[in-house]
Amino acid sequence: MFRRAKTLAILAFVATGVGALTFYLSFYPDSPDWVTQEWQENLPLTEMPRPTQLGQPEHEGRLLDTYVTIRPQAVAGVPVDGTYLKTVKKAKRLVWARARYLNEEDLPDPTLIQKELNRAEVLRIHVQAIEDELECEMTSAFHPRLIWRRGNWRLIFQRNCEKSGGQVLEVAWNSKGTLVHLRPAGSHFAWEQSRVFLYPKGPKLSELQSYEIAVSSSPGFLRTPNLLVLSDAGYKINDLEHLARIRPEDETFDMVQAYFFANRALAWTEENLSFTSGNLKIRTQVGYPRKTNASFYFNREVRLGSGDGEVFTHIAWDPSIVIHEIMHAVIESLTGLPFQGEGGSLQEGLADTLTALQLDSPNMGEAAYKKGPYQRTLENEMNFPDRTGGLYHDSLILSGMLWSLKTEVAAESAQDLTIYLLSRLTPDSGFEDTQRHVQTWLEQCSEGERCDRIGSVLSRRGWL
Ligand SMILES: [Zn+2]
Repeated sequence: MFRRAKTLAILAFVATGVGALTFYLSFYPDSPDWVTQEWQENLPLTEMPRPTQLGQPEHEGRLLDTYVTIRPQAVAGVPVDGTYLKTVKKAKRLVWARARYLNEEDLPDPTLIQKELNRAEVLRIHVQAIEDELECEMTSAFHPRLIWRRGNWRLIFQRNCEKSGGQVLEVAWNSKGTLVHLRPAGSHFAWEQSRVFLYPKGPKLSELQSYEIAVSSSPGFLRTPNLLVLSDAGYKINDLEHLARIRPEDETFDMVQAYFFANRALAWTEENLSFTSGNLKIRTQVGYPRKTNASFYFNREVRLGSGDGEVFTHIAWDPSIVIHEIMHAVIESLTGLPFQGEGGSLQEGLADTLTALQLDSPNMGEAAYKKGPYQRTLENEMNFPDRTGGLYHDSLILSGMLWSLKTEVAAESAQDLTIYLLSRLTPDSGFEDTQRHVQTWLEQCSEGERCDRIGSVLSRRGWL
């Protein structure tokens, strides 16, 4: 549809000259003609309208007895921004699917994209300039992507680079080597922003104890097949005797605490969601030698600063922060939700909920936050219509609802709905979409009186 619009716009531009420029810009649609399809049961997936060309899976994982995959639509193998096909399969049988995509006539010609891909070699010379100028070291290969900007599809090439303070930037060029964007990447925790000794529930709620934990027998030690803990200060654990001698006053104590909490969180997800999240890295002392309040998840890595001692202290010792960050990896794999906007609020709300369910506590940042008893709490009375667009503010509407299901109905109900949402939310999900899934979930409730209690909580909070 907008291909015709483009021709018309160009004709108008040629006919009337510069005066038509405004017309040209406003004539283009703000967004492409998205097609959204949800799979109807008892039909093979092939009969559901969906993109013919798909890219490599961007996210995937097991969730209970189902397998979730999210793949983008592709042109000449290049992922198209904003598209996806999410499938949920049980014993290889499709149980649910949803797609957001574009009809082929609304996408660029694959042969033209292929030509542009071939030209992209020239980009290599621009990388050094960015590295030097920003003191930001490239940490990934080029990822081509088709994005929609000002009424047209553009091919961009993204890379991530890392600054000395641990901050990650996403850099994108077009095929001619012009910088398209440069922005922070990833999700931030909040607000900004052998036998070992440890605090099993953090230093606020537990005493230092001697604990038996499983570690790797080879150098690195604080690692499992799914997790590796490192220090940006370069601290290393020499051997298992060294590990046993580490105490809170040692710099390496952060690594021990983070390792302990992260493994507990991963064991919880495996037990409760049958979900395994591999390939995770935790970096402590991020920003060294500065004591930063860094605390975020990005690209399979959790980054934790030491805490500046004013707003946060000993970030890695706080179970809610470490677990929250690890949960982002789980949520990202299962939903593809973004870290900003409405989807970002859902991502934060789910991360807090999963953390609260594990710790049996609604308070986030309780041990490390110094400006109050905690940074935020899920014990609130925020209702569905209270949204303001604030990332963490709105996240509390979702997490507050889920937490009240736990306290007023049953922990299983809160957990069941959380898992249901993980299986249904998609990269473009917002609150309206979430509300629809919450309602469908309630319609499927078969526990009599408990369903009524769930209904009254949801209704009071404006979710029905
Ligand atoms: Zn977060």
